[in-house]
Formats: sequence, C-alpha cells, structure tokens
Amino acid sequence: MSNITFTMLKPDAVGNGHTGAILDHIIKSGFGIVAMKYLQLTPERAGQFYEVHKARPFYNDLVKYMSSGPIVAVILTKDNAVEDFRKVIGATDPAKAEPGTIRNLFAKSIEANAVHGSDSDENAAIEAGFFFNRFERF
Ligand code: UDP
Ligand code: MG
Repeated sequence: MSNITFTMLKPDAVGNGHTGAILDHIIKSGFGIVAMKYLQLTPERAGQFYEVHKARPFYNDLVKYMSSGPIVAVILTKDNAVEDFRKVIGATDPAKAEPGTIRNLFAKSIEANAVHGSDSDENAAIEAGFFFNRFERF
C-alpha cells in the first residue's frame, strides 16, 4: 500500500483557470501536498515523461499538447494514494469518467483530460523523482 502518488494539472486545466478548483477537490478528497511546482515542459521533457507510450498512435500529439502551456506538478500523500487517486480522477476518457470525478468535472477530451495520476507505486516514485529532489519535499 503506497502513501504517495504523483499528479500533473495538465495545460487544458491550467489554461482554463481550473488550477484552484482542482487542487481544492484533491485536498478535500483527503490528500496532502508533499511538493508542488508550476512550470512548462519542453517537448523533449514531455516526451521523456511519456516514454512508455512512445509506440502508441497518440504519442506525438500528446507530447505536443503536454508542452503547449504551463502545468502544475504535485506529489500527493494519503494511505493507498495511487489507487485512491485514480478513483478521484476517473477514467482516461472524460466521457467514461464517473460523475463527480475530476476528469468528469474538468476535462475536455481524452487527450486534454485535466490531470495525470500515477498507475503504480513504482511509477509514482519515478514520476515524483522526475520533477522533485529531496529538498523540495515536505
Ligand atoms: N491519451 C490520448 N489518447 C488516448 C489515450 C491516452 O491522448 O487514446 C493521453 C491522455 O492525455 C492520457 C495520456 O495519454 O492521460 C496517458 O495515457 P494513459 O493510458 O496512461 O491514461 P491515464 O493513465 O492518464 O488515465
Ligand atoms: Mg497512465
């Protein structure tokens, strides 16, 4: 059972002014903030983050989209963080996301789907390390 997960508020969510509402939703769902950063990914860095999807047909568009504007990178803590956060964000495709989930409330499309959420403890640790060193975590 993990106690950290990693999320990004994606360019659509930030660009549409949903940063505050999404962070509020996350905190009210019982997650604490361990680390947080506001930044824009270069295409190269977005490509590295999504390296596991390199062979997928949506990869090039995804890299372009994820580097198109600023994002908020956040490490979150809670018991069972990875699994519980996936429930809070909902399905990848917002049309299939449960009512009340972040993607149901804030996402525009399967690509511009408002937030990222780690899919395993191992990936949560890798993704957190991609953005933050140990002096940036509280
Ligand atoms: N994505 C996309 N088209 C697809 C599937 C995924 O553009 O058909 C994008 C979407 O932004 C998604 C990201 O690629 O969040 C990573 O895909 P994954 O299957 O890991 O979904 P997630 O774990 O984010 O729900
Ligand atoms: Mg994923």
